[in-house]
Amino acid sequence: MRAVLSTGSNMEDSRAHLASVVDEFAGELVAASSLYATAPWGGVAQNDFLNQVLIVEVDQTPLELLRRCQNLESRARRVRETRWGPRTLDVDIVRIDGHASDDPGLTLPHPRASQRAFVLVPWLEIDPGAELEGESVAGIVDKLGSEGVRRL
Ligand code: ATP
Ligand code: CA
Ligand code: CA
Repeated sequence: MRAVLSTGSNMEDSRAHLASVVDEFAGELVAASSLYATAPWGGVAQNDFLNQVLIVEVDQTPLELLRRCQNLESRARRVRETRWGPRTLDVDIVRIDGHASDDPGLTLPHPRASQRAFVLVPWLEIDPGAELEGESVAGIVDKLGSEGVRRL
């Protein structure tokens, strides 16, 4: 099963937190984007984020993959305080090929991905033909703009 993951961090050693995800999926990695410095999304005043998108090919179920992502967040001692607030590590599943779900525990594709240049721009870097709900990601980015998303 092929999945697109979006990782983000704006606390502690963000590069190390993002690298922990790359390490976890080292043997299953299809592609990894550059790191991006991005302005926070969602209205909470906080430090800029470091974001990355990974494409992985895993031999497990969607829920197993979600658990694995959540374990990585736990290992980074992620604390949930403010919604869309600062975090050591966030690992979201953006899409899984051939899977759609409106379960709040795992919604696929990720319901806010199409509003987030910090997800779409790095994804486009590693998959220029990417599609989200039948629309080309390139086209979505054209409309949305990519202000505040800087490739490092
Ligand atoms: P957002 O979902 O807007 O990016 P967030 O990442 O800060 O916000 P979290 O607190 O990390 O939100 O996650 C809340 C819940 O979202 C998780 O417990 C998880 O079960 C659920 N969830 C639903 N769909 C997904 C998905 N596609 N990827 C990751 N988590 C998801
Ligand atoms: Ca998120
Ligand atoms: Ca999340």
